[in-house]
Amino acid sequence: MSVVNARRNAVNFDDSFVRDVIKFGGADLKVCMQCSICTVVCPLSPDSNPFPRKEMIWSQWGLKENLLRDPDIWMCQECGECSKQCPRNAKPGSVMTALRTVTVSHYSWPRFMGRAFRNWWFLPVFTLVPIVLFILVYYAFKLSIPASGPVYFSSFIPYNLVDAAGIIVGIFAIFSLGYGSWRYYREISAENKSRKKFIPSAASTLATVLLHTRFSKCISNHNRYYSHILIFYGFIALLLATFIGALEIHVFGFRHLLLFGVQNIIGDLGLILILPGILIAVVNRASSKVPKKETYYDWYFLALLALVVITGFALELLRAADSVSAYYVYASHLILVFMLIAYSPYSKFAHVFYRFFALTYLESIGRIPTQEIA
Ligand code: SF4
Ligand code: SF4
Repeated sequence: MSVVNARRNAVNFDDSFVRDVIKFGGADLKVCMQCSICTVVCPLSPDSNPFPRKEMIWSQWGLKENLLRDPDIWMCQECGECSKQCPRNAKPGSVMTALRTVTVSHYSWPRFMGRAFRNWWFLPVFTLVPIVLFILVYYAFKLSIPASGPVYFSSFIPYNLVDAAGIIVGIFAIFSLGYGSWRYYREISAENKSRKKFIPSAASTLATVLLHTRFSKCISNHNRYYSHILIFYGFIALLLATFIGALEIHVFGFRHLLLFGVQNIIGDLGLILILPGILIAVVNRASSKVPKKETYYDWYFLALLALVVITGFALELLRAADSVSAYYVYASHLILVFMLIAYSPYSKFAHVFYRFFALTYLESIGRIPTQEIA
């Protein structure tokens, strides 16, 4: 065995890792008695080396190295069937969620951001950053809110300024997300070399993500499938609307974004999809019979997205009514959008990327059959 493999296979108990898993949802993991009922009832667990029983014992033993390189945690879709059936109420589904949270914060770049972000007491700091930046920009560029007249957001903040800020924050988020999840992929694929090439496996995985195929296999908590798919496609519509808006201004030379233009119609469609998705998710969580430990981290992305959608709707209505308050809502909306994009590498949004890379790897080694993915 090489020195590298010896290091990889070493059994090192890490107490701080166990504390993290407990803190982020795995509070009851120590009562697990390894009966394996959870692995039997899980609709997504494979026959060989199944989950989540092994993750339960690894977590109890603090086997950080194993868990941080365990792609199986991303095969779990958080349906909660295992937690419902667990005779010890150890909530294995919540432990799997906690492991994903800890994994993302471990691989995220820069790591201190990932670690800080999962703690609610850093939220005021993360909220203050865009507010302070906005105030600085406001005074540096001598911006002012028009006192009356038709509402055009560009007469408050020039589109060039908004787009420049969007590009800078977007590049940071894409780099951070890409680097973190790619680092994770390299780590999980280091020992067991893939049989297939990355691209074909990634293409199959992309199909499963777009169609939510694995999600639909869950027996329990099926409403999560609907909320997830609505939010997912609503989010894509919002991204598309932003892109079209930038084209209209910078390529087609529009002076203002039209109230009933293509960009707005697609944006509205996104909002119409996301809002019921969020409502289903909230009602589902509030009324769920599945035993579950929820944390601030589980709610952050959903709550922020809800605020972005609500301010988005509000500023459109206020703009249509030519109300000056539209400018204030617009400023709040921009701050919220900044938070959504800039902190996406550390929030639940990042899970889409980590899950994608993990499932791609699992498909490439044959742990997830291709026909199941596609
Ligand atoms: S988590 Fe529950 S069901 Fe799973 S092995 Fe432990 S005690 Fe059994
Ligand atoms: S939450 Fe659902 S998918 Fe995840 S391990 Fe439990 S039964 Fe399996």
